[in-house]
Amino acid sequence: MAEYDYDLFVIGAGSGGVRASRMSASFGARVGIAEEYRFGGTCVIRGCVPKKLMVYASHFAEEFEDAGGFGWTVGESSFSWPALIAAKDKEIDRLEGIYHNILGNAGVEMHKGRATIVDAHTLDVAGKTVTADTILVATGGKPTLPDVPGIEHAITSNEIFHLPDLPKRAAVVGGGYIAIEFAGILNGLGAETTLFYRGEQILRGFDDDVRNHLAKEVVKKGLNLRTGTNVTSIEKTATGLTLTLTDGTTTEVDAVLYGTGRHANVDGLGLEAVGVERNAWGGVVVDEFSQTTVPNIYAIGDVTNRVELTPVALMEGMALARTLYAGEPTSPDHKDVPHAVFSQPSCAIVGMTEAEALAHYGELDLYKSTFRALKHTLSGNDEQTFMKLIVDQASQKVVGVHMVGADAAEIIQGVAIAVKMGATKQQFDATLGIHPTSAEEFVTMRDKWTPPQAEAAE
Ligand code: NDP
Repeated sequence: MAEYDYDLFVIGAGSGGVRASRMSASFGARVGIAEEYRFGGTCVIRGCVPKKLMVYASHFAEEFEDAGGFGWTVGESSFSWPALIAAKDKEIDRLEGIYHNILGNAGVEMHKGRATIVDAHTLDVAGKTVTADTILVATGGKPTLPDVPGIEHAITSNEIFHLPDLPKRAAVVGGGYIAIEFAGILNGLGAETTLFYRGEQILRGFDDDVRNHLAKEVVKKGLNLRTGTNVTSIEKTATGLTLTLTDGTTTEVDAVLYGTGRHANVDGLGLEAVGVERNAWGGVVVDEFSQTTVPNIYAIGDVTNRVELTPVALMEGMALARTLYAGEPTSPDHKDVPHAVFSQPSCAIVGMTEAEALAHYGELDLYKSTFRALKHTLSGNDEQTFMKLIVDQASQKVVGVHMVGADAAEIIQGVAIAVKMGATKQQFDATLGIHPTSAEEFVTMRDKWTPPQAEAAE
């Protein structure tokens, strides 16, 4: 191995790349890493972390209103977008510094600049030739924009974090994670916000009950939800942006944000030249040990199009370090990955949707509950919480848990342990609730849900 500059060279210092490089170094590997933008990657710099900070910011208007029901009179309030952006930037700078330190303390050599693959063991790193026994591609993803006339006037989740002002009138295109989260943020902060989604119902691929419940709730919060509608062109005018819609009508906004999916960030990386295969969506094809079609080149995280979530990239990075440098072949486990949409209200899920469980297990027992959280008995807020348990009838294992409501992600994180352990409905029932909480509903749902027509027939 000494013939190479490094045992492992990692391209991309996002969640996956940083975890893989520092763990590999801790197992004794000589590791180098290159980052062309900022250390921390999408999640820390322009994804999960700043987004969540903005979600917090956008909740306050509603909290001020809810406070009235508890006897508070809240004085006149105002919101400063530049103040939020500055505070957020300061925190992101701090986190980037921490990433730097973590890598430095682990003995990983950091290279600032773009790395490209020259051959299976050689890289060009900002004009310098570097050799490595093993190469890891951890370059993440980037936003996909459809080919719509005027798309250059649109922004993505990259630019929203640096807008100089909060748009007064905002349009969001897409019906997935990013579109729904930012529509909630913009709406909560006071922008007149419309979400345009081309399909029938938002969050395709999620459980239908979750989709339908969330759609109702976001509308209650003032979001203008236009399903079955797409934007066909964007025109810049003296007063804003004119969007032409699929029904032929037009609407004027100050900003249009596209959350229309992400794709693997591999352009110009040199993967084709060395024979690294990619899938139909451009993602790097890997086996269960994250090995690409070139034996000494590996890939982890969003660039592989497996499950595009930070904790998954961390797990893949950890598994790879163990496999390569700790003598413990470890494949990442992508089953029952809990996930959340930080919409307003938020959604969180672990396990299967009803449709997936039906296809997999056949007979199911379903438990559903829709209720007004205790807080809202006084706040006057008409938000409804939704919870659902999906149980395989034969084994009585809980195979899907879904929630739409306040703190859904915090609650589902705990429930995910039980689901991962294969807990049964009886074990959920034997667990006592913490009273009074919304979460206790997950251990107190006793009546199986029956479809309305079955009830009528009884
Ligand atoms: P998603 O795949 O979640 O959603 C993309 C949306 O864009 C879909 O509603 C899709 O519609 C729509 N769309 C695609 N192409 C077009 C088009 N040409 N015109 C109009 N609409 C279109 O992607 P996101 O960008 O929201 O997020 C990417 C990934 O990042 C997620 O899958 C997730 O893994 C991760 N992420 C996770 C977050 C979290 O954990 N909270 C937050 C943000 C991102 P259709 O359904 O019809 O295909």
